Formats: sequence, C-alpha cells, structure tokens
Amino acid sequence: MSDRLPGFSTLAVHAGAQPDPTTGARATPIYQTTSFVFNDADHAASLFGLQAFGNIYTRIGNPTNAVLEERVAALEGGTAALAVASGHAAQVVVLQQLLQPGDEFIAARKLYGGSINQFTHAFKSFGWNVVWADPDDIASFERAVTPRTKAIFIESIANPAGSITDIEAISTVARKAGVPLIVDNTLASPYLIRPIDHGADIVVHSLTKFLGGHGNSIGGIIVDAGTFDWSTGGKYPMLSEPRPEYHGIRLQETFGNFAFAIACRVLGLRDLGPALSPFNAFMILTGIETLPLRMQKHCDNAKAVAEFLAGHPAVAAVNYAGLASDPYHRLARKYAPKGAGAVFTFSLKGGYDAGVSLVSKLQLFSHLANVGDTRSLVIHPASTTHSQLDDAAKVKSGAGPDVVRLSIGIEDKEDLIADLEQALSA
Ligand SMILES: *Cc1c(COP(=O)(O)O)cnc(C)c1O
Repeated sequence: MSDRLPGFSTLAVHAGAQPDPTTGARATPIYQTTSFVFNDADHAASLFGLQAFGNIYTRIGNPTNAVLEERVAALEGGTAALAVASGHAAQVVVLQQLLQPGDEFIAARKLYGGSINQFTHAFKSFGWNVVWADPDDIASFERAVTPRTKAIFIESIANPAGSITDIEAISTVARKAGVPLIVDNTLASPYLIRPIDHGADIVVHSLTKFLGGHGNSIGGIIVDAGTFDWSTGGKYPMLSEPRPEYHGIRLQETFGNFAFAIACRVLGLRDLGPALSPFNAFMILTGIETLPLRMQKHCDNAKAVAEFLAGHPAVAAVNYAGLASDPYHRLARKYAPKGAGAVFTFSLKGGYDAGVSLVSKLQLFSHLANVGDTRSLVIHPASTTHSQLDDAAKVKSGAGPDVVRLSIGIEDKEDLIADLEQALSA
C-alpha cells in the first residue's frame, strides 16, 4: 500500500472495520451482548477510572457501535464520534455537556420540526433557553449573542425546504462569541457537505435518514471536530473542571482534541442512557457502505423531479437549491457542488386543498413522516411535522399551508415523474 489517504468511497466501505480477530468474519459482527468480561480486577478498575479504553457495558460502548463511530468520524473529518439511539438523543447529549440551567443557545429558525419542538418545550424544562435566529440573516445570529450563550445550532441543508445555510459565515459569528458551532448534517450527509471543513466544531446526525438510508433503523451520532478549546473562561465546566464521577480528572486536560466526544460518552450517554442497539449499528453500517452511490442517485433524481415540477402548470413554486433560479443556488454551488440534496418543497396553485389531494393521489411515493429512504416519500408539513407551529411560524420555517415536501428516493426518475404527472392531472 502507498501512503496515499483513502478517498471518501473507500472510507465509506472500510473505515473502522477489520476482519474479526477471533473468527475472521469480514462483515462487522453484531456484538449482541450487554457486558464484557474483565481480564482481572486491575483491568476492571482502570476501565471504570478512564485510565484504559475498553468495553464495559453496552450502554456506554459496544464494538459494533465503535466501528460505526470510527467510520462516521472518518467521513466527517472529525477526531472521534459517539453513536446514540436517535438524532434527537444526539442533540440532548451534546447540549447537556455545554449548558447549565439558565444558559442559552442560538438556533436557526429553519429546522426539522421535531427539533423546533425539542428546543422549545423539552429543553425549557431543563432550564436551557433557545434563542431563534434567521439563517438567511447572519446579523440576526450576532444580535442574539449574550453572556449566557453557550452554543449555536444550525442545519447544513435545512428542513423542510432544502435551503442551504452559510456555515462559514455563522462559524465566524460563533468564533467571535467564543462558543462552538453545532451543525446538524442529516440532510446533506458527509458525501455532500463536510461541515467541519467549513468551521463546525460539532456535527450531529440522525442516522435514521440518508446515512442508514433504507428506512429501517433509528439512530443518531455526534462527531467531535477536535477544534474547540473548552478551557477558556470557565464557560464549559463539564469539560474543563475536575469531574467528581471520575476521581477529579479534567476531561479536556486528559483527552485533548477528543475530550468532547469522551464527555458525551462518559457523562452524557452513561448517565442519560440513550444507547444505540448493536443491531441498528450493523444495519446503519451496511447502509453507509453505499452512501456515495445512493446520495448521488438521490440528488440526480431530485434535480430531474424539481425540473419537471418547475415546468408544470399546476405548480406555483419549487424550492430546490439545485435549480439555477433558486435563491440558494449560489450557496449550493459553494457548499454542495455534487448535488443539493434530495429533500425539497413545492407549492401548488390550488393551495392547501390541492396539496392534500396530491398527497392522496400519489401511488409510488409513500405518504409518511421520514426522509432519506431509498423509497420516495411525500408529506404535507403544515398538517403533520410542523402542525404545532402557529401560521406565521409555519411560513417562516418554510412549511406554509400550500407546501408539499418530497424526499426523493433512488427509483428510476421516469417512474417518479410519471407518478407526479398522474397525481397532478387528476
Ligand atoms: C429526523 C431528523 C432529526 C431527528 O432524528 P431522529 O433519528 O428521528 O431522532 C433531527 N434532525 C433532522 C434534520 C432530521 O431530519
């Protein structure tokens, strides 16, 4: 082997995995066990005291999950990762390391509907206060910074309209404020956008979507870029101060540029408990092997469908950053030159009723609440994923009453267009 660095597709197949040392199994085995036998009493003590790395109990770590963690860290260009039970669990575990009760974080207003809910309601009960900013107005992030701000949270490609966020501009605001930038990279996947290359300090994913890619397993992951200095100003005591749970060690001092991933594991996952099942880790790892092939097909199909819709007389507007006429096209060319993703929205001239009727007439598209499946999916956000928002907030987050959201799969694009054609003309 030469010393060249492996490319993205090679990492998608190989990173983190090797033939099983005991059996020679080439696919990563599912280590379906709760716990792991210690070599002796000293070994057990050193594992519990964080003096040695190793397996203890699957709530804290598991060898199948470890392959997934290493693979996604490699694909994102991070120092380490932590797999958890869902995308939402990843968000809780990340913010638990950063916020104390009474603290604030700034979040882009254009987000997955479930994240808007989680931030507004569940996090309020922890004493974590979300302050909303507009991803199309970078100055609104600057204005939202206060001495209690501990993080900024954005999506790279934002749900539901597939708009592209200017990650570098917002990372500049985060640097100035001395807080980490967290990027939810679910809709892009590292194949389209690698947020760490643009200044992100932490990347989170719902593995449920394009990374797993087959609509069969819920999972989430946290990637540590290793870029943030947690020791400055005493702002992040979970990372910089002695931890009573671990004989007074300081995580940043001990673990350096992967201290955040360690904190998420030994303080977040250990104590909050949202562990990923090794079976789901296996399913998601298998999905990731074909990520580059699937993602390109998703994007190529999405562009063809968006072009078809843009030319259809029943369609009022198409929001797809891959179209040259789209306001996000310039950002798409900069951040996602291989394709603008496969989730986007469009609106119908017939408004709300036409949207509801279209959804019921589609046959190949499945009407359900998910994105990033091999299958093409459709939903009407205003009556489902974003229904908890008031009318003004719906429009602001890109989920107005006349809007239909598509997640384009990897079927033949001609069949997808034919299905839309029959539903639109009915
Ligand atoms: C689905 C999704 C989530 C939540 O992930 P779960 O795995 O469903 O918990 C978060 N962010 C985005 C962008 C998503 O699409």
